[in-house]
Amino acid sequence: MVINDLKQTCPRCRGGGHQPGFTVLGLSQINYDGRCPTCAGRGFLLTELGQDLLNLLRPFIEEMIEGDKPKPAPLPPGTSREKPA
Ligand SMILES: [Zn+2]
Repeated sequence: MVINDLKQTCPRCRGGGHQPGFTVLGLSQINYDGRCPTCAGRGFLLTELGQDLLNLLRPFIEEMIEGDKPKPAPLPPGTSREKPA
């Protein structure tokens, strides 16, 4: 498997990720944020296989992100999470 099995170059912006404007119902519209609306500025789209892999990995990714969060602040002195003996 190669990375190109998982993603494909966005056909709309051809990988650039930017689109200055687009045409809706024959009318030219300015694309105010400049990002390609099809790929959200990424320049590529996930293939079906890429989407499957993402869905497979998502729980692990979320776990990693959770693990990076700072730990809860320590309790003030004199208090304890333990029940009093
Ligand atoms: Zn695009």
